Amino acid sequence: MGGAAAQSLSPLSYAEAQQAPQGNSQLAGPILLDHNENAYGPSEKVLAVLREAQSFSNRYPRQEYEILRGKLATLHAVKEEQILVGCGSTEILRLAATAFLGPGRGLMQALPTYGSLSNFARAIGAEVVDVPLTKMYEHDLSAMLARVGKSTGLVYICNPNNPTASLTPRKDIEFFLRNLPGSVTVLIDEAYNHFVSPHLGYASFLDHPIDDPRLVVCRTFSKVYGIAGMRIGYAVGLPDLLRKLSASQLRYGISVISAKAAAAALDDGDYVRAAIQRNADDRQEFMNQVNTRMLRTIDSHTNFAMLNPGRPAAMIIDHLKQNNVLVAPGIPSMAKYVRVSFGTPAEMQEFWRVMDLLPPTGKMAM
Ligand code: PLP
Repeated sequence: MGGAAAQSLSPLSYAEAQQAPQGNSQLAGPILLDHNENAYGPSEKVLAVLREAQSFSNRYPRQEYEILRGKLATLHAVKEEQILVGCGSTEILRLAATAFLGPGRGLMQALPTYGSLSNFARAIGAEVVDVPLTKMYEHDLSAMLARVGKSTGLVYICNPNNPTASLTPRKDIEFFLRNLPGSVTVLIDEAYNHFVSPHLGYASFLDHPIDDPRLVVCRTFSKVYGIAGMRIGYAVGLPDLLRKLSASQLRYGISVISAKAAAAALDDGDYVRAAIQRNADDRQEFMNQVNTRMLRTIDSHTNFAMLNPGRPAAMIIDHLKQNNVLVAPGIPSMAKYVRVSFGTPAEMQEFWRVMDLLPPTGKMAM
């Protein structure tokens, strides 16, 4: 299928695509559909705060961290001691590894899932137990429960899960928590929470104040808020658990500018609501394009999707890269799938144009 066919399948004419929101990417550079960021960039209000915040660069953070913590505490109806802000939620994951794992204290997680925590775990000599997702791409919590032992220090539940974009029902996690030994900490990573459409089975664990001393939930400003480059994430839990978590945190690790940007992002509710709607529209459009080409995806509840291109995934990833479109690296446990982040309409038009340069499915050796 060549370029002409691609254009006839495309929902946007070339002129329309030029007028569609461009975000801050440049089509001349690689198209970044590989890290599940917000392709459209931060809100205007955040950009204004960023410009103004530069003049505070000569000072160490003073009250900026506390202001952000206060706003997060209000948002989640908890005390300030129940919030720990980190340098991205990646820092929260690293702190969790340091606090709860080590030789003889292992990590249990799904396969596949987001890999940062297990990388940190292995680096400090902790065993990692990978439990495959169910056929519905949910965490297999009964299998996980069965494998919890004396040496389990931490269980990681990424919900929605990366890379599968799938959900694990709240009631299953609650059952799991009820039956888990008191010595095991559970980290629920809700990086993609905002993108879940109202769904019967899903609810965030921040929908009411956490009262379980074993539970910590982490969130990020890198996705819906559009400030991945500012590196801000946070954890919510009971004060004792957060004290353990923060024990090895870098002092002044969060910059004045990042803290101010995150506080402004929290204040801009209109932007967040618009970003959620825009992502839902982009996701729907992606599915329309998938259906038009008779391809398949795993049902997505995030700002990315697992696409089964009907052709060898490694070859597709390479072909896209040769044509300046970056998607996630191959996932060994899901070798038929390619993880694609949703970009702006113009970026997605280019993604599909490049996909359509390949012979249609069925005409290629698998
Ligand atoms: N958790 C999940 C599930 C992610 O997908 C990511 C990044 O993509 C992170 C955490 C890290 O996010 P950040 O460090 O930018 O907050």
